[in-house]
Amino acid sequence: MKTALVCGAGGFIGSHLVKELKSQGFWVRGVDLKMPAFSETAADDFMVADLRDPYNCRSAVDRRFDEVYQLAADMGGAGYIFTGENDADIMHNSATINLNVLDACLRRNNKRIFYSSSACMYPAYNQEDPNRPVTQEDSAYPAAPDSEYGWEKLFSERLYLAFNRNYGMQCRVARYHNIFGPEGTWDGGKEKAPAALCRKVAQAENGGEIEIWGDGLQTRSFLYIDQCIKGTIMLTRSDFEGPVNIGSEEMVTINQLADMVMTIADKRQRIRNIPGPVGVRGRNSHNELIRERLGWAPDEPLEIGLRKTYTWIAGQVERARGRNQRAAA
Ligand code: NAD
Repeated sequence: MKTALVCGAGGFIGSHLVKELKSQGFWVRGVDLKMPAFSETAADDFMVADLRDPYNCRSAVDRRFDEVYQLAADMGGAGYIFTGENDADIMHNSATINLNVLDACLRRNNKRIFYSSSACMYPAYNQEDPNRPVTQEDSAYPAAPDSEYGWEKLFSERLYLAFNRNYGMQCRVARYHNIFGPEGTWDGGKEKAPAALCRKVAQAENGGEIEIWGDGLQTRSFLYIDQCIKGTIMLTRSDFEGPVNIGSEEMVTINQLADMVMTIADKRQRIRNIPGPVGVRGRNSHNELIRERLGWAPDEPLEIGLRKTYTWIAGQVERARGRNQRAAA
């Protein structure tokens, strides 16, 4: 039986990845600070452990796995990574995890490690025009990410590739672009734009109002979780080390995204644009390289994943409302 280790298995992408690996017949160990928030883990073995501790990493990597996926990171939406208040933690925590995981893998001769970098590592100067952002993989330098989160990702992707060169490892590096879907964080400050908008639309009355950070003209693309998992596994098993974008090329403004959610919800609400952290002005995935090297690129229309995500978040909002009403009674 093939074996896999998923670091960050209690998180959004990690918990979905564990399910997919299980459905492919793998024996899976998950590791995370916490269990998945919204459903039981599918992992055969789940270690609740802090990967900043090198000894925990060595306990997690106590054998040779066929595949290791390193998704653990100190992470959040714009409200967490772009305010500047969490910069020291983001850089220190995530870099420490990556240093420790790599060291533990090397000790046990684990060569094939997938690492999830982010489109946040691309230079800010290429993302000022919302209509023509540049995210070709080779546009990374001269480096100028707009957040410390992006700088840490850039450092860590270089770290994994250096281990390939110097220690004969076979790490694979993907740059994810805004992954969304059911069972992702949808409130509390670490949620991303699609989840935040689904929540706001679900919570507000038809004819009411929702708030959007910035003027809403900033552009992004969003990739549904199933497509992300497919690309992740394909890259890990391929002979291409990356870094390569895993993202959607369907670029929308945040106001358009809000409109799409309202249409799905069958509600009309006024958009009030308020000051808030927004990140770069424009970003879209560029998929020529992944198409060329993997013979595949994400192609599912945004609306399909958004529909599934809205249904799930509207259910969560309803449940929370019920809980609050019972508590008040
Ligand atoms: P997530 O926050 O849901 O998952 C990350 C997990 O890492 C969390 O469950 C967290 O508890 C765990 N973790 C954090 N610190 C840890 C520690 N010290 N020890 C053990 N576990 C720890 O985020 P996600 O959306 O699932 O993202 C997974 C990876 O993909 C991250 O590396 C993230 O930076 C990257 N990424 C995600 C997106 C996206 O849109 N979701 C975009 C670009 C990159």
